[in-house]
Amino acid sequence: MRPKTQVIHAGIFGDEYTGSVSVPIYQTSTYKQEAVGKTKGYDYSRTANPTRRALEVLIQELEHGKAGFAFGSGMAAISSVLMLLNSGDHVVITDDVYGGTFRVVDKVFKRLGISATFVDTSDPNQITQAITKQTKAVYLETPTNPLLKVTDIRKAAQIAHQHQLLLIVDNTFATPYWQHPLDLGADIVLHSATKYIGGHSDVVAGLVAVASDDLAEKIGFIQNSVGAVPGPQDAWLLVRGIKTLGLRMEQIEKNANKIAEYLQAHPKVKKVYYPGLASHPGHALAEKQAGGFGGMISFDAGDEETVNKILAKTRYFTLAESLGAVESLISVPAKMTHASIPKPRREELGITDGLIRLSVGIEDVEDLIEDLDQALS
Ligand SMILES: *Cc1c(COP(=O)(O)O)cnc(C)c1O
Repeated sequence: MRPKTQVIHAGIFGDEYTGSVSVPIYQTSTYKQEAVGKTKGYDYSRTANPTRRALEVLIQELEHGKAGFAFGSGMAAISSVLMLLNSGDHVVITDDVYGGTFRVVDKVFKRLGISATFVDTSDPNQITQAITKQTKAVYLETPTNPLLKVTDIRKAAQIAHQHQLLLIVDNTFATPYWQHPLDLGADIVLHSATKYIGGHSDVVAGLVAVASDDLAEKIGFIQNSVGAVPGPQDAWLLVRGIKTLGLRMEQIEKNANKIAEYLQAHPKVKKVYYPGLASHPGHALAEKQAGGFGGMISFDAGDEETVNKILAKTRYFTLAESLGAVESLISVPAKMTHASIPKPRREELGITDGLIRLSVGIEDVEDLIEDLDQALS
């Protein structure tokens, strides 16, 4: 199955009882048992629900995994995966990781005795150097948020496996349409499905796919025990969103490439971060390990005052958190998505007050460029 067919036909297609082409929303918490313990495979919806199951089989197949799991948010997925670790364990994490991931590790898991070292994983030596006797996992985001740094997943997997560590990859930015971390050696891939997978800014959810039966059992146990699961309505919205993932990513990619080139040529823009640009340090690697460069662009517009002027003027780029939807969004990471990272650390990482992040949507690119042009002038 080719990718655009797969997003429509993978997983569980329709409903065997009625012939319904759309997977039904099984809005139920419990299931009638014919005798004690005699079920049709479902007994309670925290454990399993047919609509959620359709989504879980779908993400498993899209990510080329052994099993898939759905969660109530990206952070619920990330937290549930990190619960594989024990008190005393250590994890090596990408330094410009999503702000919420930094926060949960720094403020919650640290308190529970799980320590972390944040390094620039786009340099494989930094991963190796950060590994200690206590290290149990390497956690990557690639491309990163908001600086779009690219990490070599295959190399990171080699390093992780040499040291008997798990490799966990947050694939939110690349999506399973463009990038397959499990094929490159990762053990666990996860998503904020709130972003490209849902694609319409109407649902908060998370997804996980794993490469082994052993991990499937462990994550399944945590999912059922902790219970951070999405309801059937949200699961259904994701199954529907995924049907157009291919179309959306193709259009977003075309738009993003044109906008990145436009910004790069603009005299008022100091720096553009987009892996699709030949000038981006991760360009060749992104081209090798992913089918596309995605729709996230960051650029340095100078100071806070200029940034505020630009934000006040854009018409099609809506000022909002989040990313990955059909409509284009604009944000200031230092003040919004990455505000939970202390300022000195943000500046160390290059997340300055002048940095603007775009999530390119599927509008006509001419309108998007005209919009940026009038805002920048
Ligand atoms: C948004 C996001 C998350 C967190 O997901 P939620 O659905 O908001 O909980 C994690 N990783 C990345 C890369 C994200 O963009």
